[in-house]
Amino acid sequence: MILFGPPGAGKGTQAAILAEKTGLVHITTGELFREAIRKETELGRQAKPYYDRGDLVPDALTIGMLLERLAEEDAVHGCLLDGFPRTLEQATALDDALIGQGQAIDKVLCIQVPEDELLGRLAGRWTCRGCGDVYHRQSRWPKVEGRCDRCGGELYQRDDDQPEAVRRRLEVYSRQTAPLIDYYRGQGKLVEVDGYRSVDEVSGELQAALKEL
Ligand code: ADP
Ligand code: AMP
Repeated sequence: MILFGPPGAGKGTQAAILAEKTGLVHITTGELFREAIRKETELGRQAKPYYDRGDLVPDALTIGMLLERLAEEDAVHGCLLDGFPRTLEQATALDDALIGQGQAIDKVLCIQVPEDELLGRLAGRWTCRGCGDVYHRQSRWPKVEGRCDRCGGELYQRDDDQPEAVRRRLEVYSRQTAPLIDYYRGQGKLVEVDGYRSVDEVSGELQAALKEL
């Protein structure tokens, strides 16, 4: 299953809820990159300049990282992908890899939100350093100020949620990622969901779509 949409649409928020309901593991390439950068691995070192500017990390690095993660035990029977694919090359590499294993993408859940709302969500997003869970004063706020409800980790504001990087990320989304909507529509896998509603309303619609499978 793929959670698809622009930065700030609510992919991570919804993937976490769906992961709990379905037992599927939630895999997010943004979080994998943040971890690699934090740990200063070779992958992190190579990804960092792209990440900091709000550009996409080159396909070769991203695809390699994702396919390695998919091969781990907890993802063998399926997963919820969040933030991948973001280019046509990534989408076709994923399809090819899955075909090789007798598997396929079931559904692409595309969350749509107007740009003004995205700007407000990203400007007010607080992310947990420990587990990557996200918060916002207007929709979901932790019980203890500055601490994640799920793991107790420290909350921080991502550098790439600052206005300049956000502008760049939204441009990159329109140019490089949004064209994938037609790719998955052509495969008959696209489910479009209005994400400009409460977290619970969006989640209810996504779960209804999954029940049909
Ligand atoms: P994405 O993973 O698509 O970048 P996130 O799930 O991180 O988006 O959500 C971006 C921000 O918007 C977070 O601060 C989150 O708490 C908030 N948010 C998520 N869904 C909603 C919603 N339906 N309404 C209002 N705010 C939301
Ligand atoms: P996200 O947490 O999904 O907003 O991603 C944060 C950043 O990680 C992006 O702006 C990119 O620099 C990088 N990134 C995450 N996923 C991908 C991907 N599929 N392809 C290329 N870069 C990615």
